[in-house]
Amino acid sequence: MDLRESTSDRAFRDEVRSFIAKNLPKDLKDKSDAGLRLTVEDGQRWHKVLASHGWGAPGWSREHGGCGWDHSRQYIWEEEMAMAGCPPLSPFAVKMVGPVIQAFGTPEQKARFLPPAVSGEHLWCQGYSEPNAGSDLAALRTMAVKTGDKYVVNGMKIWNSYGHKADWMFALVRTSTEGKTQEGITVLLIDMKTKGISHRPIITIDGSHILNEVRFDDVEVPLDNRIGEENKGWTYAKYLLGNERALIAQIAQSTKLVKRLKEVGAKELSEGQGIIDDGDFRSKLAAIEVELDALRVTNQRVLFESRTGSAGNGGAILKSKGTFISQALSELMLEAVGYYASPWVLEQFDAGWNQPPIGPGYAKNAMPLYARQRANTIEGGSEEIQKNVIAKQVLGL
Ligand SMILES: Cc1cc2nc3c(=O)[nH]c(=O)nc-3n(C[C@H](O)[C@H](O)[C@H](O)COP(=O)(O)OP(=O)(O)OC[C@H]3O[C@@H](n4cnc5c(N)ncnc54)[C@H](O)[C@@H]3O)c2cc1C
Repeated sequence: MDLRESTSDRAFRDEVRSFIAKNLPKDLKDKSDAGLRLTVEDGQRWHKVLASHGWGAPGWSREHGGCGWDHSRQYIWEEEMAMAGCPPLSPFAVKMVGPVIQAFGTPEQKARFLPPAVSGEHLWCQGYSEPNAGSDLAALRTMAVKTGDKYVVNGMKIWNSYGHKADWMFALVRTSTEGKTQEGITVLLIDMKTKGISHRPIITIDGSHILNEVRFDDVEVPLDNRIGEENKGWTYAKYLLGNERALIAQIAQSTKLVKRLKEVGAKELSEGQGIIDDGDFRSKLAAIEVELDALRVTNQRVLFESRTGSAGNGGAILKSKGTFISQALSELMLEAVGYYASPWVLEQFDAGWNQPPIGPGYAKNAMPLYARQRANTIEGGSEEIQKNVIAKQVLGL
């Protein structure tokens, strides 16, 4: 496998860059440059622009409405999007449930669910975790009882991202209590407007409302919405988790953060010096940049080797290392921004004070970014669980 960017990859990078420059709506670009919060709706709007150009699902085959790009082009696309400050795209449809429907869905399910995933029309959410089933996911207890041509679902999901906005949920439910816990799980696609679904917000330490508790009270789901075989959902769930973990590695976003750290580090905060002139800061940043380069290569290797449409257990390596890097970068950003990360910068109360010298986008985002990146250790499976997967499944210990 040759990891160098080919001439055609470089031409492709130019094509992506000029497409973004021409097509990213100005108000979204301005919002991003000013460090304002980009919403899930902003991401959906941008997804629709990409889809109208045929770029709605880069990693999917053309047969399913995707771009059919190889792993290098997919990465170039992600990196250019992050560097240009494009709104992040919701991963649930294109990166998570879409590949599962392609691999295990019926022709009817593919015809029904794949086109609105590519176009950005359907927003999806993930119904895996429950109050007593996180790391031990197979302990989940939300029951689905088959009655005629439907399942009746009762139970509760927790830590559900965007359930309050999503059109659809891919959910793990229990359809059997016989045998091993993994053997009684089924995947259902649930319309979030169905009677009996309710949710309560969970506000996180960065102040966001992304997470929810979702309840199911006698929710009727047609049998046609079951993925694959009943009680075989654990296989499909693991297929999806490999891809989820790979995307939490956030390599393109970390690449952008390194660039921002160099920019902010060069600004003069005190005594005519930027923090980049501080040898200790510079060596910490350089060490992380080296780790990021290594992760980029590992990412290419995992994607190259996964011919099945899932990053599989390689996703655990990417998530573990990517989390370490993105958290370390968020800590360095706090160090670089220093006092200006505080929500109570005293100068804001002085007449005529406008902005901190390092630029408002950097300053106001440093603390929320730091707080948000803490969650990377937990979401998609905690760090300890990734280490267990790497030890058992990758290293065979
Ligand atoms: C920001 C965010 C978004 C999320 N979004 C979603 C979502 O959209 N949908 C969804 O279904 N879930 C979502 N989750 C939930 C996430 O998947 C779970 O939080 C995660 O799997 C951990 O489960 P838990 O919280 O129940 O912790 P627990 O499983 O209770 O773990 C508690 C601690 O014990 C440790 N531990 C547990 N078992 C072991 C073991 N065998 N060996 C060593 N250590 C162990 C864990 O590492 C952890 O430190 C999200 C979580 C976060 C933080």
